[in-house]
Amino acid sequence: MKTKYSYSFHNGDGKNKALLGGKGANLCEMTQIGLNVPPGFVITTETCLTYLELGKLPEDLLDEVRQQVKKIEQATGKEFGGANDPLLVSVRSGSAISMPGMMDTILNLGLNKKTLQGLIEQTGDPRFAYDAYRRFIQLFGKVALGIDDEKFDVHFNEAKRKAGIKADVALSSDQLQEISEMFLRVVHDETGHHFPEDVFEQLELAIKAVFNSWMGKRAIDYRREFHITPDVANGTAVNIVTMVFGNMGDDCATGVGFTRNPATGFNEMYGEYLVNAQGEDVVAGIRTPKPVQELAHEMPEQYRQLVELRNKLESHYKEVQDYEYTIERGVLYCLQTRNGKMNAAAMVKTSVDMVSEGLISKEQALLRINPELLEQLLHPQLAPDHAHPALAQGLPASPGAACGKCVFDADTAERLGQIGEDIILLREETKPEDIHGFFAAQGILTSRGGKTSHAAVVARGMGKACVAGAEDIAVDVRMRTAVVGDIHIREGDIITIDGSSGNIYLGRIPTIPPSFSQELKTLLAWADDVATIEVHANADTPDGAKLAASYGAKGIGLCRTERMFNASDRLPLVIDMIIADDVEARELALAKLFPIQRDDFRQLFEAMSPHPVTVRLLDPPMHEFLPNEHQLLEEIDALQHYAKIVQGQRVTLETLGTHDALPSPLNLLNDEVINEAISKKELMLRKVRELYEVNPMLGHRGVRLGMSYPEIYRMQIRSILEAAALCAKKRIPIEPQIMVPQVITSQELKKVKEIVDQVRHEVEAQYRLELNFKFGTMIETVRACTRSGDLANVAEFFSFGTNDLTQATFSFSREDAENKFLPLYNESGLLQDNPFETLDVKGVGNLMKMTTDLGHATRPDIHIGICGEQGGHPQSIRFCHHIGLNYVSCSAPRIPIARLAAAHAKLLELDYSL
Ligand code: PEP
Ligand code: MG
Repeated sequence: MKTKYSYSFHNGDGKNKALLGGKGANLCEMTQIGLNVPPGFVITTETCLTYLELGKLPEDLLDEVRQQVKKIEQATGKEFGGANDPLLVSVRSGSAISMPGMMDTILNLGLNKKTLQGLIEQTGDPRFAYDAYRRFIQLFGKVALGIDDEKFDVHFNEAKRKAGIKADVALSSDQLQEISEMFLRVVHDETGHHFPEDVFEQLELAIKAVFNSWMGKRAIDYRREFHITPDVANGTAVNIVTMVFGNMGDDCATGVGFTRNPATGFNEMYGEYLVNAQGEDVVAGIRTPKPVQELAHEMPEQYRQLVELRNKLESHYKEVQDYEYTIERGVLYCLQTRNGKMNAAAMVKTSVDMVSEGLISKEQALLRINPELLEQLLHPQLAPDHAHPALAQGLPASPGAACGKCVFDADTAERLGQIGEDIILLREETKPEDIHGFFAAQGILTSRGGKTSHAAVVARGMGKACVAGAEDIAVDVRMRTAVVGDIHIREGDIITIDGSSGNIYLGRIPTIPPSFSQELKTLLAWADDVATIEVHANADTPDGAKLAASYGAKGIGLCRTERMFNASDRLPLVIDMIIADDVEARELALAKLFPIQRDDFRQLFEAMSPHPVTVRLLDPPMHEFLPNEHQLLEEIDALQHYAKIVQGQRVTLETLGTHDALPSPLNLLNDEVINEAISKKELMLRKVRELYEVNPMLGHRGVRLGMSYPEIYRMQIRSILEAAALCAKKRIPIEPQIMVPQVITSQELKKVKEIVDQVRHEVEAQYRLELNFKFGTMIETVRACTRSGDLANVAEFFSFGTNDLTQATFSFSREDAENKFLPLYNESGLLQDNPFETLDVKGVGNLMKMTTDLGHATRPDIHIGICGEQGGHPQSIRFCHHIGLNYVSCSAPRIPIARLAAAHAKLLELDYSL
């Protein structure tokens, strides 16, 4: 069968975005639901791939294109290349996933010397025709012929300067004609050829240019940043659409709109328009447009039609739409629609609102939000009580506060961003080629353009703060300054922008963390109702537990007790425990640590009541708590030096100078104290040397410490169980869980369990009550996976430690991998993701599945979770749900994301081929 390369808007399948691209599919869909769309057709994404593969257009494509053009001619009564009523078209890219501004568009195609005259005669408006012509030459020159925009801009600006004109609309017909002729000469000078007069040659070149833009640097960078892989979007379609004009006079306009406010989510008309202008003027921010509400007064009938259009779009798509329209001589055309990109707050609000309006179901409301988007809601806001006066104000284009060094171009932003500087990118207006500056910056500030300008749309999509159209700021990129009144902002000066109010401040303004909106609470409660996998938190302190509970954690899946050891009041005791030469000395140090740990656990249990709290026994190698050898040698050296000076007399600070290694308080400075300090440091040094390991991550750590020093685990177990007893006495409902790290054999678990049983009896007798708790193990060694059937005989729960399990499965450490070769592996496709962020389903996941099955076979009601970092990653959560885990545990700020992802996992149950 003959390959079909294109579909007219009347025939294309509006649901097939993969084939027709998002824009093309929607043009078909809009046409077929009866909206007033200018006639046109779509060339498929498959054709793009064929073109890229062959390096040329497929043989019979152009014949098909001619037939499609004929259909448009019939529908419009116009003629492509005709002298009387010429048909002009736009040629636009559009892939399955919208990539705003990433690929190319050509407008007014079909103009040449002959059709230009036709357009003049037909419209009776030479000014309009020359304006269209000069725009076309420049855009075609840039996109299809590869001529730098600048080459045209110099002439254009020079012509405006000569005419003493600021606004483009003030240029006369003659001036525009002159500019067009100049542009034609630019094309000839730059390419060595005349501008193509044959309209089908123009069309062919434009189609090729759009196809090529799929492989342009901008598009490739964008796809990499947003993980747009070929299974999601492969190739771009080309949309060829009859031009309609918003710039034929004052009964014409062009505008863009969202069916709801994309910054707040409010259900209101939202958008901007310009009278007597072409669409690109609104989006590029060349003229500052008017809010759509003014259209109600300026063109009441068309405003009414626009409200109708907006309502039709939402009730049909059941999703907030981002649409473009043009009014040509009083007739409203819808040119484009796509799902609106909104910030997280707006997504959440519209989800909840659309459910209460009966437009969508709760499940649809949950599914329309990408869980990762919620991270934005954790963005800081300006402290409400700050008293700093604003330096200037622009439009609040993307909410959140951002602060950083002011930078005037995207390259500098990228360079400074790479060395960790916070950046505010300040531009007159932004263009798609600035995209790398957006990635690097904390916030974007522009002096021109509206809420739908490029800067605003892209920043919103990325969840970055943006203030647009701050017209009081005069930007001088060449001098690398911006001037507001008599204040000069130089590159590197710190500024703060508030994307929620539009205010701009000099210097750094304090910020506050955001709070959960009522809508977010509602949405996450729906998510919890749907999800079957629970979300717990990794938290080590009572404050951490409270924060996690406020984010909706249903328990603590991992409390790393060593983090408690590192606090300054405990570290000296921990060191005493480590350097102890015998069990008695160690018991002495442990006895001092015991009440502190017991209190920690009690507070933790109380903070998380009534949910489970999983406490992990000591895991890291002991030398991690000691200073390193080099540091100790230096300190001993310094102390010996002072010992010589002191020689039995009291000394003053002046005779000594100051040194970090000095024992304090200073009045104890005598040789006895110094000698004692030296002996202690020497003991530590000896221990450090004794504890030295070639590969500490695979050495004497985890349960192996518990085997060597059972008294340490005994102290920790006693602290946990006494804390539990204290809570029970106060009738605080709690669910403690004791977890053993780095287990490789059930023999280890049995040994720890013996201690647990013994301590349990002692504590139960002492407090005269019965303790309720669970005993379990981490699964983070490959051997534990293979022996999990046995481990489940002892363990009542498993928790996958996928940080270590990933290292063990890949046989490389995270630090070395990420610093040395993992970026190369990811970029070259050797590995698709970073397995320390996204669970490696095929490798680590396979082990997890096997472990889970073996565990369930031994103990059907065994509770299984994950507490490695991947536990907060939506894709990983989907897999954990799939293999039947009971919970995921992640850091507090990931909890809202994980709760939504857990609901998605249930709603989109996947079948994995392992
Ligand atoms: C793990 O290995 O996944 C884990 C949670 O333990 P840690 O990161 O503390 O080694
Ligand atoms: Mg671990």
